[in-house]
Amino acid sequence: MTASTFDPGSYERGRKYSLDLEVPNHPEITIPVLLIRGANSGAMLVVSAAVHGDEFEGVRAIFEVVEQIDPSEMSGDLLAAPVSNPPAFWAGTRCSPLDGANLARVFPGSPDGGPTPAIAHTLAEALISKADFYLDLHSAGVACLMPTMAGYSANDPRGRDAAECFGATVIWGHPDIAPGRTISFAHERRIPWLYSEARGAGRIDPEDLRTFRQGVLNLMRHLNILPGEAVIQTPIRHRLLGDGNIEAGLTCGVEGFFMSAVELLQPVAKGQELGRTVDLHGETIETFCATDAGIVALIRQFPVVKPGDAMFVVTGTEET
Ligand SMILES: [Zn+2]
Repeated sequence: MTASTFDPGSYERGRKYSLDLEVPNHPEITIPVLLIRGANSGAMLVVSAAVHGDEFEGVRAIFEVVEQIDPSEMSGDLLAAPVSNPPAFWAGTRCSPLDGANLARVFPGSPDGGPTPAIAHTLAEALISKADFYLDLHSAGVACLMPTMAGYSANDPRGRDAAECFGATVIWGHPDIAPGRTISFAHERRIPWLYSEARGAGRIDPEDLRTFRQGVLNLMRHLNILPGEAVIQTPIRHRLLGDGNIEAGLTCGVEGFFMSAVELLQPVAKGQELGRTVDLHGETIETFCATDAGIVALIRQFPVVKPGDAMFVVTGTEET
């Protein structure tokens, strides 16, 4: 099955399907796809996980939600790619071992490109372009820590409404969406979207897994694919607003051992020290300071660092 021959609407209603998508010009790669066709017609929610190969919370959340859902209760469809980037997933790395590319920077991709642009093209055509709503489940990956949150476009109230009912205690509105993302592809097509982040650090935190699972089910209720109202366990505590681009944050300049001086979601002042890198005699060789006042939204977790590594993101809040 290829992106151009895949038609979710051709599958009989009221059942679950396990499928594989071929990637053009790369026969060694297939993308696993799970489709649940509800007994009744309705909206199509598309969910992806492991766009970065070291982010595992969404993979497990999709498996558990698909196992749990009864298609006879559904009015509409769930189309999911639990492992969107198989080469990076099997390597346990953010970027692909095949071409070094970051899948979340090459959308809309190309059928004639290298493996990562070809995967992007397949996901874009076979899945995202078919969505009435698109959710991309990320996390901070092996190297970083991030708050468990739902991110949305500050310019699209449909995304904001969805973020409000996802169930995460942190939501993050972005005034601008950088190109090349899964969500920028959806954005250009006027498809409403959300993405999520979680603590990451290479493991699946049980609370994060619950939030993601509940978040997918809440979105399905929000879209009337499942009956009932969204179940919110804990109200929203932080409403962040600002740039979420990791590359726009502070990056590492020299190789060394990193020591953070702040916690996630801690408010910081402009110029405040966030952390430092020391050499192997404990001498400080680089200091990281906040370029603006704000809230800490990403911290480097893996302590051995090299030039170019993402170290901190500080963003604003709705109140500031
Ligand atoms: Zn990611």
